[in-house]
Amino acid sequence: MSSGILLVLSAPSGGGKTTILKRVMADLPGLVFSVSHTTRKPRPGEEDGRDYYFVSRREFESIRDRQPSGFLEWAEVHGNLYGTSRAAVEQRLGAGRDVVLDIDVQGAAQIRKSADPVAVFIAPPSLAELEARLRGRGTEDEQTIALRLENAKQELRVVDSYDYLIVNDRLAEAVESLRSIIIAERCRRRRAVDGAPVRVDF
Ligand code: ADP
Ligand code: 5GP
Repeated sequence: MSSGILLVLSAPSGGGKTTILKRVMADLPGLVFSVSHTTRKPRPGEEDGRDYYFVSRREFESIRDRQPSGFLEWAEVHGNLYGTSRAAVEQRLGAGRDVVLDIDVQGAAQIRKSADPVAVFIAPPSLAELEARLRGRGTEDEQTIALRLENAKQELRVVDSYDYLIVNDRLAEAVESLRSIIIAERCRRRRAVDGAPVRVDF
């Protein structure tokens, strides 16, 4: 059985990750979204088990502190804890599914140490546009928006460690870029089938 692709997607908060990913997933079969655990409170419209597993700090720490850790990676982001379930990801990759992780830059750096992900960074066209989109989304208070904008400046500094950069200016183009990256990665020759490299006879 071939192993699936581990796709790591990062963006500053409000960069458009969720919007782009939803459209790509609706259109491209075979992708599974890894639902993270978080200690953040749900936003209106968010569902436990679909958007996140919303847990208490105590529950989070008990999963994190298992041996081996129940999380493939975890990080504190904007004052809340977030983590990726190790068992869910490993089981799906093993079954040949392509798994998408929506994680921050700290999590992406941790994943790179133990796995070989395809890492994609989604950047806003400018910080002013990012601020406008965060406000337009209307899900955060002023203090939270200020913290997320401050963090965005740090996050944008590590773009160079990603394999691909998508500037989310026109949404339709950004969606098409992510779709194309996934399709191209699926065609890579080195991707093994039944443990052996793909071979063709001419
Ligand atoms: P993230 O998941 O990265 O935090 P979202 O997908 O929630 O970001 O996008 C933040 C806001 O910006 C949403 O209100 C979304 O509708 C809007 N948005 C996303 N991409 C674009 C775009 N290319 N042009 C205009 N608005 C956008
Ligand atoms: P939000 O609270 O806006 O949903 O997410 C805030 C940030 O946390 C985003 O950058 C998102 O990618 C990141 N995030 C979500 N889940 C995880 C996770 O499991 N691990 C890490 N490291 N970051 C995560």
